[in-house]
Amino acid sequence: MPLRLYNTLTRQVQAFTPLVPGQVSMYTCGPTVWNYAHIGNFRTFLFEDLLRRWLEASGFRVLHIMNLTDVDDRIIKEAGARHVSIREFTAPFAQAFFEDRDYLRIRPAHEYPRATEYVAPMIALVEGLLQRGTAYGGDDGSVYFAISRFPAYGRLSQLDRRELKTGASGRVSSDEYDKENAQDFVLWKAAKPEDEAVEAAWDAPFGRGRPGWHLECSAMALSLLERHGMGDVLDIHAGGVDLIFPHHEDEIAQSCAFTGRPEFARFWLHGEFLNVRGTKMSKRFGNITTPRDLKADGVDAGTLRLLMFQTHYRQKLDLTDDALAGAREGSRRLGDFDRRLREAAAEGGRPGDTEDFDRWSSTLEESVRQALDDDLNAPQALAAIFAAAREGNRMLDAGLRPQSATHVSTWGRLLEVFDLLPASPVGATIGRASLGATEPADLSEAPPADSADAEVWALGWARARLGAKGRRDYKEADRIRDLLKAAGWEIRDNKDGTVEVRRP
Ligand SMILES: [Zn+2]
Repeated sequence: MPLRLYNTLTRQVQAFTPLVPGQVSMYTCGPTVWNYAHIGNFRTFLFEDLLRRWLEASGFRVLHIMNLTDVDDRIIKEAGARHVSIREFTAPFAQAFFEDRDYLRIRPAHEYPRATEYVAPMIALVEGLLQRGTAYGGDDGSVYFAISRFPAYGRLSQLDRRELKTGASGRVSSDEYDKENAQDFVLWKAAKPEDEAVEAAWDAPFGRGRPGWHLECSAMALSLLERHGMGDVLDIHAGGVDLIFPHHEDEIAQSCAFTGRPEFARFWLHGEFLNVRGTKMSKRFGNITTPRDLKADGVDAGTLRLLMFQTHYRQKLDLTDDALAGAREGSRRLGDFDRRLREAAAEGGRPGDTEDFDRWSSTLEESVRQALDDDLNAPQALAAIFAAAREGNRMLDAGLRPQSATHVSTWGRLLEVFDLLPASPVGATIGRASLGATEPADLSEAPPADSADAEVWALGWARARLGAKGRRDYKEADRIRDLLKAAGWEIRDNKDGTVEVRRP
């Protein structure tokens, strides 16, 4: 069975074959660099990373394009409030996005087009649409897309077309609008003084202004497809479910009206939400919502990747203390087995061992392939990997030895698709506490039995100890250190005034 993917366009799982055999063009909507990207955005980027890695592991050559939106309503507003240009305002957030990407071990895209560097192709696209009569100039000086001139409008999001309002009275000029408001959307916004103030205005034959958000992705995707000689239709376009409407619907309308093709992308893939604001989140994380917060809190990328991939990308996921503790344990277990397997292979095989490990690696390969080919069923693939680690441990216990070039390389190649082993194999830091954070009021002297509760408990005492040191109550600080030590926790004072709590 070949790779099958759920296509939002048809609401069906379909066999995936690219337009050009062996080559895949993939466009994924990137971050709007107006703040630090949320861990929920990164759930989508991680799902896309898994998709990319699986395509590559399956032998496809992938061209991956991810845009950075560096001009939109929010950016102009925020830059204006700070009296800086949009370029100055967005630069640190773009940099932060790349740092967060590297922390989460996401493979870099081949192209990261920035909207402000693709204004010329955007202008050309608007001109083309004006010539074809699918765009018109409004009395406000902006250019709009006429959805009544594009019969396929609403196909992706399956809007009931009777609800669509059209015409000059029903049009929208903001970058984001809700599902109840399907109407003519803005392609090019006439420049206002606040745009000029932050250097977000460009000259165009149809008036000075700046691109609308939806236009950016169409122009950048078409432009880069052309540059790479890959036609004008994408094989895969992916993003979060919140982008289906209006963003992706509008991308299709603009692109197809321009190219005359029935499709802009043949497969549309959408990842579900990550819930971090649920009640379950409050226990340890408080308001932690970005990868850099999690990194500062000592959370390993391997843990996060496992946590994300253990839920299918089309299902909602809650980020909770328990789930994180479970994923850390899982990542650690796979890391331990990985080390053991490699050490055993290095010791050299014995005659007669090969058969068991042959069967072991072919079962593993077959199960992972079947699961991931079935619309990226990562939870099932991971279950097969954990089962292989259990069985592999049993075989190693029995004195069997794997072969490096075959068994270990199969294991390594499949694990690489997920890339979820712990960065530091021993004594993982579970968290970092700093002074100023609220000192927990009622901490029991005895540690809770549940492992997630125990981490919250240990971090709570670490904060209490910082408070004690702040009051110069060193006796209490020492008592807390001993209390934690007795419960199996090690506390380390850092130069920056924070403390790390580790399980040695
Ligand atoms: Zn987009």
